[in-house]
Amino acid sequence: MSATHHSCLSRKAAFLLAAVILFAAVSGCASTKPASVPEPSAPPATAEPSAEPLQIDLVAAETPEPAPAVTLTPSPSPTPEPALKGFIVGIDPGHQLHYDPSDEPVAPGSSTMKKKVAGGCQGVKSRIFEYEVNLAVGLCLRDLLEADGATVVMTRTVQDVNISNSARAIMFNDANVDLGIRIHADKASDHNKRGVHMLIPKEYRTDWYDTNLKAAQCILEHYHSVTGIPIVKGTGISERGDQSGFNWCTRPIVCIEMGYLSNPEDDALLSDPDFQKVMARGLYEGIRAFLLGEPSFVEAEINTGSDTLEDTENSDE
Ligand SMILES: [Zn+2]
Repeated sequence: MSATHHSCLSRKAAFLLAAVILFAAVSGCASTKPASVPEPSAPPATAEPSAEPLQIDLVAAETPEPAPAVTLTPSPSPTPEPALKGFIVGIDPGHQLHYDPSDEPVAPGSSTMKKKVAGGCQGVKSRIFEYEVNLAVGLCLRDLLEADGATVVMTRTVQDVNISNSARAIMFNDANVDLGIRIHADKASDHNKRGVHMLIPKEYRTDWYDTNLKAAQCILEHYHSVTGIPIVKGTGISERGDQSGFNWCTRPIVCIEMGYLSNPEDDALLSDPDFQKVMARGLYEGIRAFLLGEPSFVEAEINTGSDTLEDTENSDE
């Protein structure tokens, strides 16, 4: 009886084994991973190439390395600084298109009255007006002085103005000129009288007597030397107390009477546009010599005479 029982157990075991094998076959080969596991994610996308490096490349391409400077620094110029740099010169071309007969005090605080602007004189043959000669020479003188570095103050640059003699002097005061020069031509009843002479303020009218005298000597010497116009004998330099254009001026000032328009020889020279440039050059050289402190050797006699309006039929202002 025992053998039969043993045989029965073996059959049961075989059956179970078979059942296990069958199950395994039906379930397939799913031993590794569940079907629901998601696909591995795509490899991280390569980052978009940044625009930055590209931009740098472009900039680099468009902006080449600066070429070495080819402009050579010029060697220091040997041109010296203009000699008259820093100097201020006042130029008053005397008179104007229409004279002004109204009065003004001849000096600050004075009760003596004088015409604001007299008419001036006229060429005996050329018929040129004094105000025309004065302005032509004045403008030319301005150009010469400015080319040499000076600052120039003109009381007028055209004919048709109305500026009194005191107002012209005050223009020089306001500009603090180192020297003011009044440009005129003269006349005389004696038509043989010719030549250049200069006026300076009477000593009691100015704080600049010695300076004015020195300036007048320099200008007279150079003007005479350049133009050949003779210096008037006896009155090469005249002190004048009757000139409004002097008395209102608180700065160094002189007046040149470039020649006599009443004399045919002087008239021919003064009315000639080419010779006006020569006269301007003479004035320029004299002013330059004065400003730069160069010595003057002019032998002009100083006339300390006339100090009243009655004595001033000449040298109108
Ligand atoms: Zn005059």
